[in-house]
Amino acid sequence: MRFDVLTIFPCMFAGYLNEGLLGKAITKGLIDIRLVDIRDFAEGPHRATDDRPYGGGEGMVMKPEPICDAVESIEKIGKKSLVVLLSPQGETFKQSEAWKLAELDQVIMICGRYEGIDERVRLTCVDRELSIGDYILNGGEVGAMVIIDSVSRLIPGVLGGERSAAEDSFEEGLLEYPQYTRPRIFRGKEVPEILLSGNHELIRRWRRAESLRKTLKRRPDLLTEAELTDQDKRFMSGL
Ligand code: SAM
Repeated sequence: MRFDVLTIFPCMFAGYLNEGLLGKAITKGLIDIRLVDIRDFAEGPHRATDDRPYGGGEGMVMKPEPICDAVESIEKIGKKSLVVLLSPQGETFKQSEAWKLAELDQVIMICGRYEGIDERVRLTCVDRELSIGDYILNGGEVGAMVIIDSVSRLIPGVLGGERSAAEDSFEEGLLEYPQYTRPRIFRGKEVPEILLSGNHELIRRWRRAESLRKTLKRRPDLLTEAELTDQDKRFMSGL
């Protein structure tokens, strides 16, 4: 899968992309990330990518020509390619959206800065507007990293070995059960006995129950969409 990121700060990505699972996925060729410097498409002696807002007001607005020229310069990979604008005004990015993006061949992301981007970029060369949450960032770069990170985990082979994303929080609409590792007793707190039992069926049931309990307590809103069995419903009615 390929990600193309349009930004005026391509250097911001270097450390993040070269480490951990993402670094390995890039080395193995499972994901390909291209950084496009919007400034390379700007004209004039100063290669300005921003200008003052029409109608007055504070701050600067990103000019439309360099961004749309940059988008149009990108080689399209495969049949399924999408241009995403990172924006606090977009649809909120969720795990279900990460799965949809993971099915594409290419995601092209535009990172805004300053007061945002000239509206005509959205109208001419953007397929989707995505927000990573109800807060304002200084720029779209962190949002692009969030999307690359979460979508990459869903691409076969990226997590490595037998690991799958299927038990993570938000899969099946639930939060994940509590996890423990050694030592068995830490500051007086013990690992639940059942996890040491070696009985896989009992452990599976305990984890499911903890997952339901945690979701009900912390994110009851998720339960309306969750895939619950009759056994789950019986358990929940007793909570
Ligand atoms: N003035 C804009 C507004 O009120 O909608 C906010 C501009 S913000 C300071 C600059 C850029 O950061 C945006 O163009 C966008 O690319 C990015 N950004 C800020 N918050 C974001 C969020 N929650 N999700 C995704 N991108 C965001």
